[in-house]
Amino acid sequence: MQHVKHGPWSGIVTKAPERCVVNGCDDPHRGRGFCHKHYMTWDRDRKSGKVPRVTPLR
Ligand SMILES: [Zn+2]
Repeated sequence: MQHVKHGPWSGIVTKAPERCVVNGCDDPHRGRGFCHKHYMTWDRDRKSGKVPRVTPLR
């Protein structure tokens, strides 16, 4: 059995959530911490120059 060394942040930075990070949303994760619906919301706001209503993971 080989043990892989992980830095203190490796589990946090690289691991994608299983669910959307938006409060009250329980949809499966799609990208940047969002489900498909919230990803589209964020992307649309961003591209139209507005402040996104939702906050991505990074
Ligand atoms: Zn969502």
